[in-house]
Amino acid sequence: MHLIWLRTDLRLHDNTALAAASQRGPVAAVYLITPEQWQAHDDAPCKVDFWLRNLQHLSQALDNLNIPLLIRHAATWDQAPTVLSQLCRELSVESVHVNEEYGIHESRRDSAVAQALEADGVTFHSYLDQLFFQPGSVLTKTGTYFQVFSQFRKVCYSRLHSALPRRVPTPKAQAEPGVKSDPVPTAVEGFPTPSETLRALWPAGEDEARRRLDAFADQQISYYKDERDFPAKPGTSQLSAYLAAGVVSPRQCLHAALQTNQGEFESGDIGAITWINELLWREFYKHILVGYPRVSRHRAFRPETEALAWRKAPEDLAAWQQARTGLPIIDAAMRQLLETGWMHNRLRMVVAMFLTKNLLIDWREGERFFMRHLIDGDLAANNGGWQWSSSTGTDSAPYFRIFSPLSQSEKFDGDGVFIKRWLPELDALNKKQVHNPEAAGGLFGVADYPRAIVDLKQSRERALAAFRRLPSRQEMAEHE
Ligand SMILES: Cc1cc2nc3c(=O)[nH]c(=O)nc-3n(C[C@H](O)[C@H](O)[C@H](O)COP(=O)(O)OP(=O)(O)OC[C@H]3O[C@@H](n4cnc5c(N)ncnc54)[C@H](O)[C@@H]3O)c2cc1C
Repeated sequence: MHLIWLRTDLRLHDNTALAAASQRGPVAAVYLITPEQWQAHDDAPCKVDFWLRNLQHLSQALDNLNIPLLIRHAATWDQAPTVLSQLCRELSVESVHVNEEYGIHESRRDSAVAQALEADGVTFHSYLDQLFFQPGSVLTKTGTYFQVFSQFRKVCYSRLHSALPRRVPTPKAQAEPGVKSDPVPTAVEGFPTPSETLRALWPAGEDEARRRLDAFADQQISYYKDERDFPAKPGTSQLSAYLAAGVVSPRQCLHAALQTNQGEFESGDIGAITWINELLWREFYKHILVGYPRVSRHRAFRPETEALAWRKAPEDLAAWQQARTGLPIIDAAMRQLLETGWMHNRLRMVVAMFLTKNLLIDWREGERFFMRHLIDGDLAANNGGWQWSSSTGTDSAPYFRIFSPLSQSEKFDGDGVFIKRWLPELDALNKKQVHNPEAAGGLFGVADYPRAIVDLKQSRERALAAFRRLPSRQEMAEHE
């Protein structure tokens, strides 16, 4: 018997480890429920619920092929070696197959499991699956990880020209293995079940992921570049939750996009090129996570920014978290996050900049809060996005280029459609007033809506001054 240990690769199709395991002979699958680990990683209840719902679908699909899905419990990943060794003994497993996951804890977990299994004579095989290229294989001429996206992308392009990542076959039905699947739990203690409204926005299963991908590739991708920044429009694929849980693979996404553009990724349809570019940002941040492990430890990518005098301002932080900053675009975005488990990319940047610049609150607070609420929460992308917005990261926004929430609001939600969707209390305001109700005066009596918690101009100056006080990289190096 061979075992596939499923993690964030909850799909039957184009699953490298599953394909490899099934080529060797009879296969069983296992999934570990690890609630304390999930708590420690701030995994959102809606994301855990999404994993479970997808597991239920996958269990069905595996059952159709006579591949049993076993569920085992381990409070944390420290117990994974014992739990998996035990299972391998029970089933006389010869080899265990996994798709690589990135991050310090993930790597440590896999090494410990590999060691324990190998001591028992069980071989452990891990595969590149979440990414197009193995981290460590896209490097600068001097052999270091890229820190600048455009340079990283250039190498990716040339690699894609020489060899496109290929999809792997779907396993075939096997003979009845004499092992029964376990029921997939519908909930895990400590992770409250989200509302039905939220769940309905993110139906589980590979068919749904495929439907989204096909609909996006057929109908929307050509408009992606023009429409992706407008939160009131369905201009993006909304596939991130499916990609993060591995319900769809990046290779499937890449091939669907290429198909719309005669196989081109650097020329042709600008929408397809731009979307593939986003898949490469996803790739870039995961390579950064591996190349610069401090990022996994919640350290700033740019060490000199560790000295920044962040404000301890629990009331401001709470206002931001609870969508009552008095700045409509910020509050509407935060409501979208709280109610749907997802936020539009433009708004992720806007609210992150507002927290780290205007409120001068440590990016780690925002990163953690996002992780606790996002259905697509992903350490590499979330950390990358936060460190980009707070100017502490690789290839990040220069500290003096601070988005004004008001200009962003006017530019990307000109008519206030998105704002009014989430803040119906502002319905009566016209498209000019809706961005800044305070300036509208008391005439319309927006009684339910708070005044802005911060003066945008002064707080911008405060942030610039705080960043200016930082030692330069050179000064840091001289002190070392
Ligand atoms: C502060 C901040 C936090 C973020 N946190 C996450 C997170 O936890 N998980 C996550 O998947 N994305 C995160 N992003 C990136 C981006 O906002 C989301 O991937 C995107 O909004 C998802 O919507 P979509 O699937 O419609 O994306 P599309 O625009 O359709 O893009 C397709 C896919 O490309 C990937 N992608 C797109 N933009 C980025 C990006 N900037 N960085 C990395 N991957 C990208 C995603 O997998 C996405 O599903 C964050 C961005 C910021 C600024």
